[in-house]
Amino acid sequence: MSEVKAYGAKASDANLEQLDIKRRDLLPTDVHIEIEYCGVCHSDIHQVRNDWKNSKYPVIPGHEIIGHVVAVGSKVTNFKKGQKVGVGCMVDSCQECNSCKEGLEQFCENGMTATYNSPDQHLGGHTYGGYSEEIVVDEKFVLNVPENLDIKAVPPLLCAGITTWSPLRQWNVQKGDKVGVVGLGGLGHMGIKFAHALGAHVVMITTSPEKSKDAERLGADEVLISKDAEQMKQHANSFDFILNTVPVGHDVNPYLNLLKRDKTMCLVGAIEPLKGVNGGALIVKRKRLAGSLIGGIEETQEMLDFCGEHDIVSDIEMIDMQNINTAFERVVNSDVKYRFVIDMQSLKN
Ligand code: NAP
Ligand code: ZN
Repeated sequence: MSEVKAYGAKASDANLEQLDIKRRDLLPTDVHIEIEYCGVCHSDIHQVRNDWKNSKYPVIPGHEIIGHVVAVGSKVTNFKKGQKVGVGCMVDSCQECNSCKEGLEQFCENGMTATYNSPDQHLGGHTYGGYSEEIVVDEKFVLNVPENLDIKAVPPLLCAGITTWSPLRQWNVQKGDKVGVVGLGGLGHMGIKFAHALGAHVVMITTSPEKSKDAERLGADEVLISKDAEQMKQHANSFDFILNTVPVGHDVNPYLNLLKRDKTMCLVGAIEPLKGVNGGALIVKRKRLAGSLIGGIEETQEMLDFCGEHDIVSDIEMIDMQNINTAFERVVNSDVKYRFVIDMQSLKN
């Protein structure tokens, strides 16, 4: 066991502070990673604040991890010392249930082990995430990073990337489809980039008119201000697919009205009760409201490889670990362009 520096919160109303945590000794199939960069996901804030009522303290967040391998266990075949690698939202699953066998570890029927705040099978207690110097992960949950990508801007692909990629693929977004992305934050900006790269006609649906220029730069063909009832009316019944990243329970009916008959809006953001869904909005034109949770390891690698081929990374603002509390505030205020990434070197200072 080794002790490493980390940043975490001791209670739901506490700021994050420096803490020491333990990492397990290398098992035969483990990869020991020195963390270089870690993205800041809105889920980190939800978990620190106990919004989902299942947080265990201290919460050490972080599931967009990029680093290099410092050691591998005796049975590791796919990774070697010095290699740049990634770790996303999961670090283990049973590998035996139907979901795991289908490569859908996020739906593991025995409960996947999330990178933080899940029961730790090895050390007891709960898992600690990437706001730390080092992490030890089974090789099945370690990802290859395309070498041509700017490593500093890769971490967000590991959660924001796969969480938007997976539904776009699941609902088979095609060239020419009119696709809406609701919410221009970490997930939303990756959603625009991917939908654009897949050839869709992308509409950014935002509450923030001042983000319009950025939305277009990121790949949106149009910007729709959701607070403008007239604009919303003009786009009624016209979308083939909507990816909704709004981070809180909200009124989904205005967005459902935007879908064509038989089309789907997929939620990825509001992991909580929604305000009254109007059954009529679904029934009358046979519309669908769906959800999606991150993506499996195989699909995450597929997404990373796609990013390598298409030169896609995240738009990031690099911060020191010590500035995390201000960064959290800015994310909550929808003031992030478009993902914070922590330079983990700052934790050593
Ligand atoms: P984020 O960076 O804060 O982006 C969310 C964006 O949604 C904001 O920038 C804002 O964009 C818009 N928004 C915020 N509050 C809103 C409201 N009340 N009504 C309408 N729009 C609102 O967050 P994120 O990191 O992208 O994460 C988004 C959500 O996805 C979080 O809840 C996170 O926990 C969840 N998540 C889910 C999964 C999954 O597997 N399903 C994975 C990762 C994260 P505009 O200014 O453009 O309106
Ligand atoms: Zn996340």
